[in-house]
Amino acid sequence: MENEIEVGSHAFVQSKGERVLGKVLGIPGHRFPNGRVAERYEVLQLGSEMLYLRDVDEVALATDDDVKEADENYARCDECKDWLDIENGEHTYDKNENIVCHACESSEFENASTVHVVHPDGEKKQVLVTERFTVEREYFEPVTGYTREWQSSSGYRGTYVTSVEGHVEVLSGWMTGWVDETVPQKARFNEWLERVLGDDEEHEPAPCKFVIAFDPTSNVFSTAVGVWVEEENRDEFVEWLGDDFEVLHNALT
Ligand SMILES: [Zn+2]
Repeated sequence: MENEIEVGSHAFVQSKGERVLGKVLGIPGHRFPNGRVAERYEVLQLGSEMLYLRDVDEVALATDDDVKEADENYARCDECKDWLDIENGEHTYDKNENIVCHACESSEFENASTVHVVHPDGEKKQVLVTERFTVEREYFEPVTGYTREWQSSSGYRGTYVTSVEGHVEVLSGWMTGWVDETVPQKARFNEWLERVLGDDEEHEPAPCKFVIAFDPTSNVFSTAVGVWVEEENRDEFVEWLGDDFEVLHNALT
């Protein structure tokens, strides 16, 4: 092991009873530019103190992982476990303050759930929800109040379910990305969506805020849907839906 250590290697050494990680500046016989010849290993301790150690024993080569672990400028991505250079901003934080690399962040968003929040005054906002991130779609500002979980039905099959804090689910089911002949009733839900999410000012606005969550499923052709309102507004909202409630319920089932 010791013979792998060269000037410039990183190594663990014992110094005054302590195990220290340092950069090897001298090995026995190494001649420094000023002519001095090292008799033992000489190591510059890594870290804030930058201690130069000339009296070291038990030199053991350190791996790149050891060096990065000891360096507070490096941290592993919580998802892919790659080392990230924190000083150079190769990272972001998820909602639980875990460090995540930009590649993992992007791949999370590729599979994000989309939540539409519709206010009675017509204001609409979209939120993207993944397990690690919840952001408002336009400016990617973090928001809270949404939780997404994977619900497995069998093996790899299943669906994400996004739930909205303080809200109850009034309608739930699934829709296809487009309307084909096999599921004509799905068209009714798409029509309703166009009405409430579109810019049509004609329809009577809902009496309360409501939330529509679209979640990816293991079937790429179908999307799970949940319509949520605050608990105290449930009856009012269902009343506003009127005949649509039954139609939408059937369309989503
Ligand atoms: Zn990563």
